[in-house]
Amino acid sequence: MKKIIIAIDGFSSCGKSTMAKELAHEIGYIYIDSGAMYRAVTLYCIQTDILKEETIDIQRLREAIGTLKVCFHFNRETDHPDVWLNDVNVEDKIRTMEVSAHVSKIAAFDFVRTAMVAQQQAMGRDKGLVMDGRDIGTVVFPHAELKIFVTASPEVRARRRYDELTAKGATVSLEEILTNIKERDYADQHRPVSPLRQADDAILLDNTHLTTAQQLEWLKEQYQQAIQ
Ligand code: C5P
Repeated sequence: MKKIIIAIDGFSSCGKSTMAKELAHEIGYIYIDSGAMYRAVTLYCIQTDILKEETIDIQRLREAIGTLKVCFHFNRETDHPDVWLNDVNVEDKIRTMEVSAHVSKIAAFDFVRTAMVAQQQAMGRDKGLVMDGRDIGTVVFPHAELKIFVTASPEVRARRRYDELTAKGATVSLEEILTNIKERDYADQHRPVSPLRQADDAILLDNTHLTTAQQLEWLKEQYQQAIQ
């Protein structure tokens, strides 16, 4: 059967990863969470003091970026891929509020994006890939056969992220998450390099009032049409 590339872009915490992951699982495609790659780079900056007290040592980051190996390995327990940074599984460390608070600044550097986009494009060489992010349909795979742009209200997104984090035992407040989501929306839409925007040929999905089951059904229909 014809293999395609599926690009799922959209705002923070609107369920892109969940739907992309589930679709990939059902159709036997590889799933790549490109946001996890920017989060891994941000974690590296925190761990090495490249990012300290709100200041980023841009020169050190520029020197380090080419040496960073960010990749994914399938986790049999969760049935989904985990992100690895320089041969260490960092899946559990990249979703903290500390990383969320800084990732949009790190992701805005053109040299960071160039390095990550090159790795993402290499992952899509053989197609059969679902990738989610902010610039997948516009920059990484402008010729993707299926492009979806997802949105939902900031309040609904904050509630979903809150439920997800508290289920994992994190102590966070809904207000803190909502503020972070709005700040990241703004930063992602207004950065000069690869800003978040809907590709002209992307299909818009507002999932504010959809369950995950409903949106997976919808996505599968789009996939079936795309491979015909
Ligand atoms: O998808 P997630 O919310 O985990 O992404 C974290 C951050 O990484 C986003 O807020 C955005 O700043 C950045 N990002 C990006 N380009 C992508 C994916 C994520 O700039 N393709």
